[in-house]
Amino acid sequence: MHDVKAWEEGMQPVPGKPEVPEEVQEAVRTLIRWAGDDPAREGLLDTPQRVARAWLEYCEGYKEDPAYHLSRIFHEVGGYDEIVLLKGIPFHSHCEHHMAPIIGVAHIAYLPGDYVVGISKLARVLHGFARRLQVQERLTAEVADCIWDNLRPRGVAVVIEATHGCMTGRGVRTPDVAMKTSRMMGVFRDDEKSRKEVLRLMGLA
Ligand SMILES: [Zn+2]
Repeated sequence: MHDVKAWEEGMQPVPGKPEVPEEVQEAVRTLIRWAGDDPAREGLLDTPQRVARAWLEYCEGYKEDPAYHLSRIFHEVGGYDEIVLLKGIPFHSHCEHHMAPIIGVAHIAYLPGDYVVGISKLARVLHGFARRLQVQERLTAEVADCIWDNLRPRGVAVVIEATHGCMTGRGVRTPDVAMKTSRMMGVFRDDEKSRKEVLRLMGLA
C-alpha cells in the first residue's frame, strides 16, 4: 500500500505504476526457476512484474530522508515535561540477509526538551527506516538516533519487537519467536527511574 500522504510531504512525487526493465523481470524468472518452478506457466506470467513493483514499495524508504518528518517542530511545549509515547506501531521491514519479512511493532518515546513534533511523525520516521533492507538492531538505532539528533530531547527510548521470516519460514523454523531490541538515550539510559517509567508506559515492565 502506498502511503500517498508521505509522498506528498516528502521529497518525491507520487509514483504511478513504474515500468519494470526486462532485466529485472528476467532476474525474478531466474529465481523462480532456481526455486523449482516454471516461470512460463500461466499463473506465474505476470509475477516478475508484480514482484519487482512490490520490492519498490517494500524499499521506498530509500527515496526519503526520514529526518524530513522531524523538520516541522513546535517550540511551544506549554510547560509539558512528561514522556511522549507512541505505543505499538505496526511495521513491516525486510532483513538484509535473506530479504525475508520482518514484521513487528515499535514503541517510540521521548522526553521533550524545548521541542515537540506531531506524534504521527514518529511513525513516519520508523517507516522511513523500516522500508529498506534492514537488521532489527540497526533499525532500532537509526530511529532513536534520528529523533535524538533532530528533536534534541532529554531522552529517547525505542523498543522493537518483531518476528523474522528467515527464522519462522526457513532455517530453524521457529514460529512465534519474537526478537526484542531497544535503544535508550539521555535520561532513559542514565536514570534508572526514568527508564523504568518509560518501560512501564510501554507495557514492558
Ligand atoms: Zn534474515
